[in-house]
Amino acid sequence: MKNTKRDRLITEINLSGDGKCGLAKQAPTLEEYADLVKGKICRWCRTSFRARVEHYDHAGGWEVRGFSQKQWLYIRCQKCSYQWNLGKLGIHR
Ligand SMILES: [Zn+2]
Repeated sequence: MKNTKRDRLITEINLSGDGKCGLAKQAPTLEEYADLVKGKICRWCRTSFRARVEHYDHAGGWEVRGFSQKQWLYIRCQKCSYQWNLGKLGIHR
């Protein structure tokens, strides 16, 4: 009786230990996404983008560190105003 109880306790401790391996991969920050965009060129007007990523809440978007919801990420070409989402620029979710 005593042993069974102790064994169960040990099992519970092991399970909760496994559940919390806390070092999950962190999502990039907006600045890190901006760095990925830097140097890319608008395919419409050949202007290279200024790295200013705009964003709003969107379930189909990208995970961004510091936001509880996924964010739709895009940049607007400063010359032709075309909106490029980061997926079109080859930056995958
Ligand atoms: Zn453009």
